[in-house]
Amino acid sequence: MNCKHRRHKSELSASACPMISFSFRAVLFAVLFAGFGNAFGTRDAAAQNNGSDQGVDEAYGAKILEYTTDPRFVNPMVDHLPASNDIPSPLDEFGTIIGAPDILHTTAEIHGYLKKLADSSPRVMVRSIGESEEGREMIEVIVSSEANLSNLENIRTDLNKLADPRTISNSEADRIVSNAVPIYYITAGLHSPETGSPEMVMEMAYRLAVSNDAMIQDIRNNVVLIVVPVVEVDGRDRIVDTYKYRSANRNIGPSLRYWGAYAAHDNNRDGFGMALNLTRNILGSFMHWKPQVMHDLHESVSYLYTSTGLGPYNEYVDAITVNEWHNLAHEEVSELTSLGMPGVWTHAFYNGWAANYLIWMANVRNSNGRFYETFGNSIPETVERKLTTRQTSREWYRSNPPLEKTMWSLRNNTNYMQSGVLAALKYIADNREETVANFYLKSVRSLEKGKTEAPYAWVIPHDQSRPNATTNLVNLLMDQGLEVHTADSDLQWDASPEKEEKDDDADDSASDNAEDSNKADEEEPEQPIMTASAGDYVVRMDQPYRNLAQVLLDKQEFPKGANPPYDDTGWTLPYLHQVRAIRVADSTILDNQMTQLSEHVAKSGGVSGGGKYYVVNNTTDDEFAVFRFRLPDVKVKAAQSNFSADGQTFNAGSFIIDSGDNKARALRSIGDIAVELGVAVHRVESLPEVAMHDVEVARVGLIHTWVSTPQDAGWWHFAFDKIGIPYTYLSEQDLATVDLSKFDVLIMPRTGASPQSLVAGNSMVGDPVPWKKSDQYPSLGQIDETDDVRKGMGYEGLANLKRFVERGGVFITEGSTSAFPIDMAITRRVSIKETKSLAARGSVVRTVPADSLSPIVYGIADSLAAYFSAGPVFSVNKNVKSYRNPDWYKDEQWSREVPRTVLSFAKKNIGMSGMLSGESEMAGAPAVLDVPVGDGHVVLFAIRPVRRWNTQGSHALVFNTILHWNDLRIGWPDRPDEDEEDDDDDALMGTGLDY
Ligand SMILES: [Zn+2]
Repeated sequence: MNCKHRRHKSELSASACPMISFSFRAVLFAVLFAGFGNAFGTRDAAAQNNGSDQGVDEAYGAKILEYTTDPRFVNPMVDHLPASNDIPSPLDEFGTIIGAPDILHTTAEIHGYLKKLADSSPRVMVRSIGESEEGREMIEVIVSSEANLSNLENIRTDLNKLADPRTISNSEADRIVSNAVPIYYITAGLHSPETGSPEMVMEMAYRLAVSNDAMIQDIRNNVVLIVVPVVEVDGRDRIVDTYKYRSANRNIGPSLRYWGAYAAHDNNRDGFGMALNLTRNILGSFMHWKPQVMHDLHESVSYLYTSTGLGPYNEYVDAITVNEWHNLAHEEVSELTSLGMPGVWTHAFYNGWAANYLIWMANVRNSNGRFYETFGNSIPETVERKLTTRQTSREWYRSNPPLEKTMWSLRNNTNYMQSGVLAALKYIADNREETVANFYLKSVRSLEKGKTEAPYAWVIPHDQSRPNATTNLVNLLMDQGLEVHTADSDLQWDASPEKEEKDDDADDSASDNAEDSNKADEEEPEQPIMTASAGDYVVRMDQPYRNLAQVLLDKQEFPKGANPPYDDTGWTLPYLHQVRAIRVADSTILDNQMTQLSEHVAKSGGVSGGGKYYVVNNTTDDEFAVFRFRLPDVKVKAAQSNFSADGQTFNAGSFIIDSGDNKARALRSIGDIAVELGVAVHRVESLPEVAMHDVEVARVGLIHTWVSTPQDAGWWHFAFDKIGIPYTYLSEQDLATVDLSKFDVLIMPRTGASPQSLVAGNSMVGDPVPWKKSDQYPSLGQIDETDDVRKGMGYEGLANLKRFVERGGVFITEGSTSAFPIDMAITRRVSIKETKSLAARGSVVRTVPADSLSPIVYGIADSLAAYFSAGPVFSVNKNVKSYRNPDWYKDEQWSREVPRTVLSFAKKNIGMSGMLSGESEMAGAPAVLDVPVGDGHVVLFAIRPVRRWNTQGSHALVFNTILHWNDLRIGWPDRPDEDEEDDDDDALMGTGLDY
């Protein structure tokens, strides 16, 4: 009954419908095990039905049944393990089976076992794919038949040819497709608290290497399985240590505070920025093999959710891929359901819009990326789990729902996950040729679309106001596997088809988003010829990863009224990097001579000219800010407005160094640093005529939290490390104990913790819960340590923080955590508006400088694309009016209390990419507020200026705040005259309705 009409039999398949035997065995199994309470003693009967003459490991099988809590949670695919004299099983290696209570293995143990498996089996190989931030090795395990492994390089080469149809003829493609062996690529252990998958894949690798079962042979002969057993190798060791700690401490221990060095759950959202080693290592492996399916193993919902999602699916995923998702999911649900397993379902749960998940490296590269959520306890203990009606209701997509109450074990989790994967592998083995043919067809279609459908190219001018951001973006595109060319000569193209076809679309927005006024974006409709210069970058769409280019470069149009998204809805990279990219809808662009870049574009910088003064333009590139920090002993001034020197215009905030102010020795390294950072330094004879102030090097503290995940601070941590901005990393608890006069700027990135728990901490019942490295728990601590993760900053910390600001310090918060200084009464006159219809979920929105004299917006263009999600929308009370109050009092109030809006959300055309509705509630509201407090400032960001590694365009808002931390009062606005004309009563003060 499960022999699908879709199924294309491979030549090597042993029987017409081999899976059906499992269904029959399941019936037999269920009958045999009807009285489950005493049934485990009869496991021999099941063993004899394993479909081969091969002996089974009796002890192993007995333990599987012992640790499985309900006969419905196991089936004949995974109720036994074949025996081998030569090849060590997990039981031989560890003394316990996989999924045993209380047992989790470290990265080293898992890798050690799999390497032994490779040493002992001709069907297993291990390959190193790189290192984590903390220096742990990442490996992949390759399992297939001896014949396939001995032919592996040819298999790989063939798949690589199919990935690029330009390299082969149709007939060669046919030949390859008919012989090719698809690669099924599994990633386990990406999310560290989801502990089961690294365990399961060890048993599955053994089973696939050893078993003579017809189905397993079929898989081995027709599929190359590649498994990354632990993707987050650092986090794995931490979760094992937290469990050990918990076991030794009355079942109380820290939750996983750090996974990897920087990211936690977001390690599965790094597909655009590719910040993390694990993303780069896995993509490196993907590009090496070109697998047809990527499958990521997660744990959350019960009992096994297999991904299809509920849409809206990303429009650049080939429809073939979408159908493959459904075919595979249908197969798994059907097979496992027919084997009597409850709670296997698909559809719902996630949507399939964001393309930043790890497996989406497959979906946007003509392959197929999918995932599981298996029910997991996180801890390897067997515990009673109760589900809500919402989780157990019978739905059209879940006609065989999970049970309301059950004892759940790690072995149950292993059984479900492994059974599902085996069913999927079997499906791919049976549909070997179709799988490979689809992969080729998708590559052809992607390539062809680039020739027949606009856009035909994206042009990225090489001469931009943010030269390093431009270079970095081009290099990122290349790292993503995209081909980038440079124009051999000047280009021109007809812009009119684009105007007609996509009115008010990405090209216009991209142009609006750039400040580059000399360029072709100034084109008027009556002159629809666009031009570009020789050397400009061209991303041609007639390349196999055309869909990927579109995902990264074009605007995201999240459908109105669609299902709620699972993650960000907009991410257009040129917007968020503040780099101009022009969508070209004229196909003749492809006829031009171009040269493909073969290596990263180098940044160009250095010292030019001669003269007493060094002038550095404020490009708002990250490297501009770093330049100041790399010369801490040099006296640097900043211009307070635009100026001209040497025939060039320099932006406000540009650095001016007077060699007369500095020792020659201090200036000696400027040239080397300028070259290294790619910063252009101009020497001029005369001091530019512009008001300027000193730029003192700020001492920066970056605050992470213990009471909630430090992940968002982790992305700032990453950005500061990567960019090279020096900082001290501290926690909210340190605010109570550390001498804050050692800092000039304190940054508290967004955190999931409420203002209340940031102060009061979490429940203090019971013993302290340390996060500390020790001989017993070597993987804890390291990034930061505490004696007790439960504590907040306390009133001492809060008071110290307030005093720090009052004495002249600058405190920066972002996103929802901007509620903290507001609710804790550090600031006055700012409130957070309750919105009723605003819907923004990880969207790109347009902001505009509201006060160009503020140093915070030095160098920022007329329009800046920023990341915004959900809130907050600030409301500012600027009311100092009252006929009863004398002017001096109003002036004092204005100057000492009233916040300065330095950046606002645009008043119209706010949405640039992704979901946005009800935007009138945020139109014109402050995006960045500078709130004076005593002698210092609290700078509140409604936007998220450092969000993952995607928002390079808004970094400068933060770096400007840091560079000019003690000069933020420059250009502070005077109290407007009209305030005096109104004579509203005091009663209006504090209503907070006036922004
Ligand atoms: Zn997960």
